[in-house]
This record gives sequence, C-alpha cells and structure tokens, in this order.
Amino acid sequence: MAKFVYYFGNGKAEGKAEMKNLLGGKGANLAEMTNIGLPVPAGFSISTEVCTYYYANKKTYPKSLAADVKKSIGKVEKAMGAKFGDLKNPLLVSVRSGARASMPGMMDTILNLGLNDKVAEGLVKKTNNPRFVYDSYRRFVQMYGDVVLGLKPVHKDEIDPFEAIIEGKKKLKGVHLDTELTADDLKDLVAQFKQAIKEKTGNDFPQEPMAQLWGAIGAVFGSWNNDRANAYRKMYDIPESWGTAVNVQSMVFGNMGDDSGTGVAFTRDAATGENVFYGEYLMNAQGEDVVAGTRTPLPISQLAKDNPKIYNQLDKIRKTLEKHYRDMNDIEFTIQQGKLFMLQCRIGKRTAFAAIKIAVDMVDEKLISDKEALKRIEPDQLNQLLRPVFDLKEKEAAVKSGRLLAKGLNAGPGAATGRVVFNAPDAEAWKKKGELVILTRIETSPEDIKGMDAAEGILTARGGMTSHAALVARQMGKVCVAGCASLDIDYSTHTMKVKGKVIKEGDWISLDGTTGEVIEGKVATKPSEVLQVLVSKTLAPKEAPVYQQYAKIMSWADKYRRLKIRTNADQPDQALNAVAFGAEGIGLCRTEHMFFGEGKIGPMREMILADTVEARKAALAKLLPLQRTDFEGIFEAMNGLPVTIRTIDPPLHEFVPHDEAAQRQLAAEIGISYDKVHQRVEGLHEFNPMLGLRGCRLGIIYPEITEMQSRAIFEAAANIQAKGIKVEPEVMIPLVGNVKELENQEKIVRRVAGEVMKEKGVKFKYLVGTMIEIPRGAITADEIATVAEFFSFGTNDLTQTTLGVSRDDAAKFLIPYVEMEILPKDPFEVLDRVGVGALMKMAIEKGRSVRSDLKVGICGEHGGEPSSVEFCHEINQNYVSCSPFRVPIARLAAARAALKDAPASSAKKTATKSKKK
Ligand code: PEP
Ligand code: MG
Repeated sequence: MAKFVYYFGNGKAEGKAEMKNLLGGKGANLAEMTNIGLPVPAGFSISTEVCTYYYANKKTYPKSLAADVKKSIGKVEKAMGAKFGDLKNPLLVSVRSGARASMPGMMDTILNLGLNDKVAEGLVKKTNNPRFVYDSYRRFVQMYGDVVLGLKPVHKDEIDPFEAIIEGKKKLKGVHLDTELTADDLKDLVAQFKQAIKEKTGNDFPQEPMAQLWGAIGAVFGSWNNDRANAYRKMYDIPESWGTAVNVQSMVFGNMGDDSGTGVAFTRDAATGENVFYGEYLMNAQGEDVVAGTRTPLPISQLAKDNPKIYNQLDKIRKTLEKHYRDMNDIEFTIQQGKLFMLQCRIGKRTAFAAIKIAVDMVDEKLISDKEALKRIEPDQLNQLLRPVFDLKEKEAAVKSGRLLAKGLNAGPGAATGRVVFNAPDAEAWKKKGELVILTRIETSPEDIKGMDAAEGILTARGGMTSHAALVARQMGKVCVAGCASLDIDYSTHTMKVKGKVIKEGDWISLDGTTGEVIEGKVATKPSEVLQVLVSKTLAPKEAPVYQQYAKIMSWADKYRRLKIRTNADQPDQALNAVAFGAEGIGLCRTEHMFFGEGKIGPMREMILADTVEARKAALAKLLPLQRTDFEGIFEAMNGLPVTIRTIDPPLHEFVPHDEAAQRQLAAEIGISYDKVHQRVEGLHEFNPMLGLRGCRLGIIYPEITEMQSRAIFEAAANIQAKGIKVEPEVMIPLVGNVKELENQEKIVRRVAGEVMKEKGVKFKYLVGTMIEIPRGAITADEIATVAEFFSFGTNDLTQTTLGVSRDDAAKFLIPYVEMEILPKDPFEVLDRVGVGALMKMAIEKGRSVRSDLKVGICGEHGGEPSSVEFCHEINQNYVSCSPFRVPIARLAAARAALKDAPASSAKKTATKSKKK
C-alpha cells in the first residue's frame, strides 16, 4: 500500500532532506533535523501525493489516509507523553503547509489545534496559567475561523472580524496592547469569536479535536489553490502539479511566560551575506508575533546577554546546520519554559549581494567548491549588482537641506525613487500608467505581493528585518525600508504624516535600502560598484569589495563554461562596456543602427529615394567613408576580438519620414520635389514589411548596397590592421532562406574583399556567414553551410516566423497566453525549445554534416536569457551574443549549463569535447 504519512520524533524520522518532492521543504527538513539530533517536537508529514490525489479526486483523500493519520497521532502522543483531546494532559498540534519550494506566507497555518472549552479548562489546571491557555485558545479560534471556516476578509478595505472584536475589547478596557488583556478578557474573546463564527456560518465552532484536525488538513490542501499562492507560483515558476504537503506537529509554546519565547534567524546575514548570526526574537510570544510586525522584536545578539545558555545552544545549532547543509539556513525556534525547540530550517533566501558573498566565503571556508558556488547563484541575480545606488553628494545635499524624513531598517539594499502609493492595487495601477512607485504600507502581507512586484521600493511603518515586507522584498530584489516607526500612515486619506509634514499619494520619495533612510523628493542615482569599477572606471577594484566578489565568481564561471560570450553592439562605447563585462567578441553589429548617427541619415535617405543606379551609387559613395569610420571605431574598441557585422536588414521604409512636413524638408535638402519624395515613400509601403523587401533581399535587389558595406568593412579592417591591431571581420548576411541568396551575396563580399586587399596591398582574414532566422534557412542548413562559414541564430525573427507570431504585435495575446498557460513563457523572452529549438538543433546537425568546423552562435535577445543560454550549450553552439549588460549573466548561465552537463566528472573535460573556433 502506498505510503502517504511520514513520522518524525524522538531522534528518528521516516523522511530526510532529499525527500522534498514528497514531503515539501518544511517536512523534509524537520525530518533531517530530527535525524541529526536537533530538538524537534514530534509530528508527521502528509505527502504532496495526497495533495495531487485531493485535486484529482474531487477533494477527497486516499482510503488509507484516515487510518494512517490516526496511527501517527498515536505515535506523536506517545513521543510527547500527551493525548489529543485529553483533559489532563492534552496534546496540541500545529497544522502547516509545506511545498517543495518555499512560498513564505502564501498558504495557511493553524496553531494550537486540539483546544476546546473542556481541554482549555483542563490545561488551565495543568499549567496553572489561564492567561496562556486562553491566549492560545483565542488564537486558535481566530486562525481556524479565518482559514478553515472562511471568515477572513476578501476585500482590502474590510477588516478581519476577529481583529474588530479584539479592538473593541481593548477600547472597552482602555488598553493598547494585546498583552494587557487579562485571562478573563481572553476567555471572553473566545466566546465572542465563537459567536461570530456561529453568526457567519450558521454552525458551532467544532469542539472535537479529530474533526478540527481534518478541517485544518483540508484547508491547508485547499490553500494550495488560493489567489495568493497562484500568483506566487506564477511569479516564481512553481508548477501547480507539485502540490503541498501538510505538516502536523506537536505544539511547543513561546507564550508560556517570560521564560518562553520564539524567534526567527538566519545563520548569516541575508541582506549583506556577512558571516554573523542574524535574527530576531520575542519573549512570551508565538511565531506569528515575530513576523506579523505587530510587536517589534529584539535582535538575536540581545539573547546572548539575556539568556546565554539558550543563545549558546542556538549558536551551536547554527554551526551544525551550516556544516550539515553547507549553506546559509533560515531557522525558526521556540523556547518553552527555558527549553529550546527547532521548528523549521530551510536554505535561506538572500539578496544577490548576500548570495555572492556567501558563495565566495563558503569556498574560502572550504565548505563548498567553486563549482557549487556557481550553481548557487542564479544568473539573473547579478542584475542586482548592476543596479544604481544614490549619488552620495546628492543624497548628502538632500539630507543637509532637511529632506531626510525618517530612518527605518535597511531591509533590501539599493536605491529607489518613486511616487508614494498606499496599497497594492494602486501600485499596480500606477505602474501600468508608466509611473515609478514606492509601495508604502503600515505592514505588508502576502496579499500585497503583486503590488510589491510593481513597486520600485517598499516602505513599511512596522515589522523587523524578518517581517514579511523584508523577506519578500529581498527575494524579489526590491529596495526595502521596513519598520519605519515614525511614519503615521492613514490609508483612508491616502496620506502619511512624518516629521510634521504630510506626504500625499503621488508625492515623490526616495529610499536608501542600504542605510534605511527615507528622503523626501527625488534623489539622483549613480551606477553600481561593479559599473564604477568596470565601466566608468571611477573606483579602484581594491576599494570595491562587492566588485571583488563579482570578479571571483566571474573567473570561476570562465573556468568552467564552454560557450564563448559575445555581445550585440553597434557603437564603440557599447563595445567597450561589453568588453569590460567580459565579452569575447561582437556577435551582432546591426549596421542599420549606424545610419541614424550624425550626418548619415541624409545620404541614406538620398540613397533610398534614388531612382537610378547611378543616383543610388552617388549617395552610397557619401555613406562609404562614414560607415568605414564607424567600423574602424568598432575594430579598434574590440582590439583583435572577432566582430560579426551584418549587412543592412530592415525594410527601407523605416529610414524615411512619413509625415508631410518632414517629407517637405527632406525634399528641400536633397533638391527634389515634395511630390517625388511622397511618391517614393508611398512606393515603399508594404502590407507585411517584416516578410517583405528586407534582409538579404535588399542586397540582392540593390547589390550596390552590399558592395558599399563590404568595402567599408574591409577598408576599415585594412586601416586598423595597418595600425598593428588584429582584425577578424565576419560578414553576416541576414534573412537567408535559400542557399542561392547567400551565394549571390557571398560573391559580392568576396569580390570586394579581394579588391580591397589588392588596392591596399595587404591580406586579412575574414569569414562570410549567415543568420539563420527563417525556418527554410534551418531546414536547408546543409545546403546553406556549403557556403556559410558560420551560422548565427536570429531567434527574434526565427521565433516570429516559426510561431507565425508578429514580434511587434504579440503582447496583446501573448500575455494572456502565458496567463492561460497556453505558453509557458513569452517565447520572445525565453526560447521555445520545443519548436524554435528543434529547428536550431536540426540546423546545427545539418550544417555540421557538411562543414564540421561550422561556427554557430545566437544573436537574438535569447542570447542573454539564462534558460536559453543553457539550451545553446546543450545543442553545442560555439557562442551566445547578448546586450552588454547581460554579458555577466550569460557568462554565469553558460558555466552553470556546463556544470549541469557534467555533474560527476570535471566540467573542463566535457567542455573541450565539442569543436571550438
Ligand atoms: C533576430 O532576428 O534575432 C536578430 C538578431 O535580428 P533583428 O532583431 O535585428 O531582426
Ligand atoms: Mg532578425
């Protein structure tokens, strides 16, 4: 019979860390902690397979589950020496979700389950602590009412009915804090809560513990499909099919008095990566008090002073966990009457800064290898290192002039400027209008997730470094200032008062997530440390610790990757940036971009409007020296690295003006009539220009264009070579679908190359190749490769033409397509491996069947997207080419692909297997 329930307790567990798919992250780690001897309260996990069954079978359970749960409860009772529903010594349990990937706060949790009126009385007798008992009971009824019985408000402006009752009670008693309510007050709250439940649902609050348990289990499985969880899963690519496990665990209490408490911590600083114990705790409190932000917790360093015994025990556990998991952990613990219990551990989320520092430090500490370090850093995380920080002078000036409004916790590093909004839907709406927003909340909750995603930065009045706002912002890579207590936020008027000022919705503020400062108005930003070292060269590497870590990671990436990384650049400055980021050549220089440069658009238009070959040649003669200078600049910047230059590609109408005034001006400039200009422009009209006269078709119809461009390339090559700089031009013909097209263009290119070499009396190496960007090109790649010395996949067009989806008009339906899961991702962002990828694979195989040393790259936007880079590695390309700022991302993605490819053996060895050029 299938096993659905896995027990842990008394130092032995049926599960282990590797069983995350079945037990979820929480369940697997509870089992692992039990097995390595950490103090974990006994419990059991109901596997994710039950969740899958539940949804596949009209929300019912496998037959054997009821008996298994009953049996497991028996084991927990035995381990804990307490009984479920017992009046003398009752067992209380928590019921929590736990998916394979952590989804903080997205699903439901119920604590103190097993309490009812009689058990509560019994527990009062046992503990002699009525306040604790009724505090636990009221929390249980509240959570159960919200989560299982559906009393939780759905609309953002509604308030939780239980919170309203508590507020009423506090008002009546003239107190401010929950802790000021007496046992009798709490007992009365329980009665009022139950009454509210009866009124809303028509049913009594269930008193029977087993019935409570099944209600809670159903609610947790049900919460796998709530709106928050669905939104989160979409955002983080967590498949719906994974399901959640349910963890039922014996309760331990942090709210049993001043010798009890609860806390959350990271084994290292999750924001900076520093190797310090980092966390927060609250005495006489339950778990949700720490993360909810309703009371401000104490730093863990305080525990070292207040309770050194527990602190030392925790610190030892911190080291055990780091050694065991060889990673930074995020833990939850509870102290019950002076005894420490571990309630959770998992690999901790961290900022990109922290991810890099921790990975580098752990290599230094010999906890992990450099390969492992690379596997731990998501390529896109590097984006955070390339983000701007405030211009220090501007910020100082802002502070000096009295614009510093407040200081909170530096929960998410970086600099953000935007307009204040006070709720998540507004954040989304303003973002849609193209505004930058700072989401400002008293505290955030999982319901705010989409608004947080829309915001540049997040500012909260309450909560600590491990509050919801802080955790989620860090995970999203957002700037965040949390717990900024001096903000007096009024949701109803959409304003906040701070430092005697009133900040209204729409006002500009700036957040320094690195220092926690909140500044009125805009503050200019400046480039990241990495950019300052590499691009502006305004910072010395030795003064830039973040840069040094980045550089180490990059050097490891370079050690293991097989793919070469090139860049798409059309200007020397772009090329230089890319080289600073590690580019090893240019994979795509779009020559048409050059025509928009100084002095070039005029002769370009003249060429387009010419109606004789002579007139066209005359205009091209004007363009030749301009293009040649451009290419010289590029060759010089690349200093010997290969440069792929593509001949003109876009339809010609893109270069000419379409409004009358501009056409009249153009007519005057080139000395022809307005009517003629108008007529010629109209003549360029095409119904479907993307499939019209563009790409190599232009060079075939107007061979003098290819001739001029080839001459500009080769003359520039000769001139730069004469300066002692190596040049390696690779001339690339776009949109080829038929080998004859390529033959036609190749002939021109080679003839001109020969002429230039003769004229200049020099020799230079060059290649002629093609883009593969329409399906026929891929399908006939064996014919095309008889001529082409290299292929470069133009996956922007190849996606467009393979899917029959216009790259310029697709957003309207692609976004809904992704939402409706017709497509897993936008195929213009992440390569469609099944369709477009199959053509690429075929093209490589066919191409190399006739030319074994065929060099293959990619220059579509996918060249800088990690999953697409991985695919390019898998199909044995030689290089990827991407925009300059994505070069570091591609380097890391390429290394990770190589390491994935060769998990056991040395990646280096595998790396040299395929042919390289
Ligand atoms: C492509 O189609 O992928 C490509 C790189 O060319 P362009 O985007 O200029 O059409
Ligand atoms: Mg293209």
